[in-house]
Amino acid sequence: MKSKQMKVGVFTSGGDAPGMNACIRAAVRTALHAGKSVVGIYQGYQGMIDANFQEMTSRSVSNIIQLGGTILKTARCAAFRTTEGRQLAYDHIKAAGIDALIAIGGDGTFTGAEVFSREFDIPVVCIPGTIDNDLYGSDFTLGYDTATNTVIEAIDKIRDTAASHDRLFFVEVMGRDSGCIALNAGIAGGAEAILLPEKATGIETLCNQLEVAAKSKKSSTIVIVAEGEENGGAYNVAKEVKQRFDFYDTKVTILGHLQRGGSPSSFDRVLASRLGYAAVQQLLAGETRIMVGLRGNEIKTTPLDEVLNKKAFKLSKDMLEMMEVLSI
Ligand code: ATP
Repeated sequence: MKSKQMKVGVFTSGGDAPGMNACIRAAVRTALHAGKSVVGIYQGYQGMIDANFQEMTSRSVSNIIQLGGTILKTARCAAFRTTEGRQLAYDHIKAAGIDALIAIGGDGTFTGAEVFSREFDIPVVCIPGTIDNDLYGSDFTLGYDTATNTVIEAIDKIRDTAASHDRLFFVEVMGRDSGCIALNAGIAGGAEAILLPEKATGIETLCNQLEVAAKSKKSSTIVIVAEGEENGGAYNVAKEVKQRFDFYDTKVTILGHLQRGGSPSSFDRVLASRLGYAAVQQLLAGETRIMVGLRGNEIKTTPLDEVLNKKAFKLSKDMLEMMEVLSI
C-alpha cells in the first residue's frame, strides 16, 4: 500500500524483551518524519480487541531508549486466535483509522500477524523481539544480547560464592526450544558444562564431565541448564548428579524472569533502532507480511511464511566442541 495518508499502528506482543522501547521509539519517529501518523496499540492483540489505542507523538517516546520492558505493554491474547476475536480487532483498528501495522514480538506474534493481514488485507511488517533468539531470518533478535549479558553477570557472581565454598552450581536459564542464551552465556561465563534443548546430554555424559572437573581439583564448577533440555531442569539434574557424587556440595539457582528485564545493551538499542526504522521504510515502500532482520550486519527482509516455516539453528558445532575443550 503506497497510501499518502497512512496511519501506522505499532504494538508489542508475547514475551517482553529489552530493546522493545528503543524499537517503538524508532518506528514512531521514522513514521512521523515521513509525515504519517502513528497510533500506539496497548497490550498487543488484546489492545486491538479492547480498542486500547493512543495517538503517538515524538514526545510520547522521549526518554525511553534506555528502558527495559515495553511502554506499550504486552499480552498473550487467546481471543485473537479465534475468527470472532480477530473480527472485533479489525473493526476497532478500522474505526481508529489504522491502515498498517508494525508488530514487535516472537513467532506467535508473527503467526497472528500473518493470519490477520491475510484475512483483512491489512499491511503488516514484523520485527523480531524475543530474548530467545529463535527466529529464522535474523541473526539476532531484540533482547537476546541484553539477556545474555544479564546471565553472564549472574554467573560471575555465582562463581564468587561457588569458589569460596568449593561448590557445584546448576544455573537454569531461559530457553525452552533455543539454547542460544545457555551456550553463549555459558562460554562467556566459563561454565564447566552446558545442557541445551538442541543437543541431548544424558546424566551419564554430564557426570563424566564433572568427574574430570573434580579430578582436576577445580574450586568451583558451574553447569548451565537451559530450561528446555531433556533431563527436566536444574533441580532434577542436581538431584541425579548428587545421587552419583555425594561428595559434591550442590546448589541450584533458577535465574527466571530477571533475564527479561533491565536496560538494553548498546547492541540491542542500535539493533532496535535499525529494525524500527527499516520496518517503517518497508511499509512506506508497499511491503507487507515480511519480517525485517539483521543478517551479516545488514538489514534484510524475509517473507513471514518463510520465517514461520523454517527452523533457525544458531548454535555452531565449533562452539559446542570448544566449550568442552576450554572447560578442562
Ligand atoms: P515469545 O517468543 O517471547 O514467547 P511470542 O510472540 O511467540 O513471543 P506468543 O504468546 O506465542 O508469544 O504469541 C503472542 C500472541 O500472538 C498470542 O498471545 C496470540 O494472541 C497471538 N497468536 C499466536 N498464535 C496465533 C495464531 N495461530 N493465530 C492467531 N493469533 C495467534
